[in-house]
Amino acid sequence: MRLLKIHGVGDARLDAYERPAAGPTDVVVKMKACGICGSDLSYIKIGGIPTPGTVTALGHEGAGEVLEVGAEVEGISVGDPVVVNPMMTPGNIGSGGPEGAFTEELLVREARLGASILPIPAGISYEIAAMCEPLAVAMHGVNRAEVNPGDKVVVFGCGPIGLGMVLWLVDRGITNVVALDLTPERRERALALGAQAALDPTKVDLRAELARLHGEVPSYGRVGVGTDAFIDAAGAPNILSDVVAMAKFHSRMVITAAHMKPIEFPAGRMLTSEMTITTAMGYPTEMPDVIAAMPRLKDKIAGMISHRLSLSDVIEGLKIAATPESCKVMINCDEGAA
Ligand SMILES: [Zn+2]
Repeated sequence: MRLLKIHGVGDARLDAYERPAAGPTDVVVKMKACGICGSDLSYIKIGGIPTPGTVTALGHEGAGEVLEVGAEVEGISVGDPVVVNPMMTPGNIGSGGPEGAFTEELLVREARLGASILPIPAGISYEIAAMCEPLAVAMHGVNRAEVNPGDKVVVFGCGPIGLGMVLWLVDRGITNVVALDLTPERRERALALGAQAALDPTKVDLRAELARLHGEVPSYGRVGVGTDAFIDAAGAPNILSDVVAMAKFHSRMVITAAHMKPIEFPAGRMLTSEMTITTAMGYPTEMPDVIAAMPRLKDKIAGMISHRLSLSDVIEGLKIAATPESCKVMINCDEGAA
């Protein structure tokens, strides 16, 4: 067996690996598909988590088939197709714990049906199922935006998370979604998912474009754009101050991007808009809702997968995932399967 691990700054390797034996409360999943995440790349950049220098196992977007079930585990059977929710595992799979999903056989410690182990509905492929994790992050961001049909929304960043947000917004009947990204391929994907417009914010006057697309609303002696919610899935340092400068009364902003440095916050300017700024992290409740929506949205979800590689080529996959033209890079962990 093999497992992708971080050995140091910029140093990830597919190491030989011996899976620990499963205990009575554990489940072993034969991994079929696992997506490469932007946070995998960030972890590699800093040399691993939680402390740089330690060996970190990678892979937290996995789906596969149950291979072994501990005697005390209820409701899970050998052969079940499942998604693993890494946030619900004590080992913190792929984010600092000893296990990672870029492997052939994943040990899920203290496995619980409906929490760390979620059944995949019939007709959903493993690679679609493996999109559950990033789509759950995206759904949580949208949930935190508290939007309703008819609202006008801007999504900064059209990586897999930003695109997932466009997918959910459109699915909820929000047709006025403006997506922003520097890369033409990513903007095209946003349009294909149903965004109203996709713009390069460095090439247009963003305030003027949003005034044109979402209208303008006067409040307290100044005029804001008609956008109801802004979601930052990009992490550029100017986004917060740009949004505050153009936001209308009682609009909302959700920050989901990982800002590594403090950013400027124009509190004085924000005073007159009484806008709400909040954050969104992970997916405390969303995974079952994402899985339930998969039969309806599987074709759109498949369109978000830009590259498919085998586990043997995962290092190459990491390089592809770092290019802005790529979207989700999906790793096939079961090279023996046809
Ligand atoms: Zn992820």
